[in-house]
Amino acid sequence: MNRVFNFSAGPAVLPESVLAEAQEHLLNYHGCGFSIMEASHRGPQYDAVHQEAVANLSTLLGLSDDYQVLFLTGGATAQFALVPMNLRGAGQSANYSLDGAWAKKAVAEAKIMGDTHVAGDFTAAKPLRCGSPADLDCPEGAAYLHITSNETIEGVQWKEWPETDAPLVADMSSEILSREIDVSKFGFIYAGAQKNLGPSGVTIGIIRKDLLDRAPDSVPSILRYKTHADANSLKNTPPSFSIYMVCLVTRWLLAEGGVAAMQTRNERKAGKLYDTLDASAFWSPSADPAFRSPMNVTFRIANNDLEPVFLEEAAENGLVAMKGHRSVGGIRASIYNAFPEAGVDALVSFMNAFEAKHG
Ligand code: PMP
Repeated sequence: MNRVFNFSAGPAVLPESVLAEAQEHLLNYHGCGFSIMEASHRGPQYDAVHQEAVANLSTLLGLSDDYQVLFLTGGATAQFALVPMNLRGAGQSANYSLDGAWAKKAVAEAKIMGDTHVAGDFTAAKPLRCGSPADLDCPEGAAYLHITSNETIEGVQWKEWPETDAPLVADMSSEILSREIDVSKFGFIYAGAQKNLGPSGVTIGIIRKDLLDRAPDSVPSILRYKTHADANSLKNTPPSFSIYMVCLVTRWLLAEGGVAAMQTRNERKAGKLYDTLDASAFWSPSADPAFRSPMNVTFRIANNDLEPVFLEEAAENGLVAMKGHRSVGGIRASIYNAFPEAGVDALVSFMNAFEAKHG
């Protein structure tokens, strides 16, 4: 069967060479006679994978010794709870930028456990946008400021980082390793792997080490970042196959030229789509141009009735999984690092043909 161009928002496309390599070694991992899936997480085969995944992420993100990579579970959703549990002291408040649907869930979870201040609410904005430094009201003395650096559903992205007296915490699930970032501006970064990094099952955390001691005594040990940091993310059995895939994907990223090369490619890919959307009133891009995401390109067709036809005809042409999230509707093309540029070119050609036929 031929592979199609998969625009899924996540789990999402993986580099074909990575899938082929995993397949090649699936039954017999480099001659050891069993699969890496069947290897002990304390054995030499998995240990090498684990160490390489940590090292590759550190290299790609340019981490200094002040930061540590964590492999966590429960998706980014678990982090919505674990961030306030670990980083907000008793009686302290935390600032949140309400950037979109995912930020709303993070705020809801933070409110369960303590004082949560909404520093800016961008969820009703039309066209769609997220926060920017000038638009936040951040009272001083907060435990941290939380942002969703790329809102997957709306297709909007932070372009400039806010600076306050509190550490910056970012949900980078749908953009990690897609553009160069200065990690020193952040206290904690987290990202589910299933968009830019690998399959689902593992969540990457990047923590500034001085924040590891913040969790109050009431937090159970397995829910503490410090527990996982002290054990190099091997306190309990980690999602070893997912981490193996992250190891292969990060190896691929390094071979492709790292984050800088990805950023150049991602900007070119997204630029082709946004140029097509801007070229004619047939299309209606959903995001404010100043906040457009290069990862999730969201748009409507001016005549909304044509959207189901678009999705159906696109799928017939091997362009699948572009239905917008049910909360915003319309169309969404997710074009993460591993999404091939040829797929973007195919979509542009299809859009031009679709407009000629239906416009
Ligand atoms: N945050 C963002 C920005 C997301 O895109 C997603 C998933 N689409 C989540 C959080 C939730 O991730 P998970 O399903 O891994 O918990």
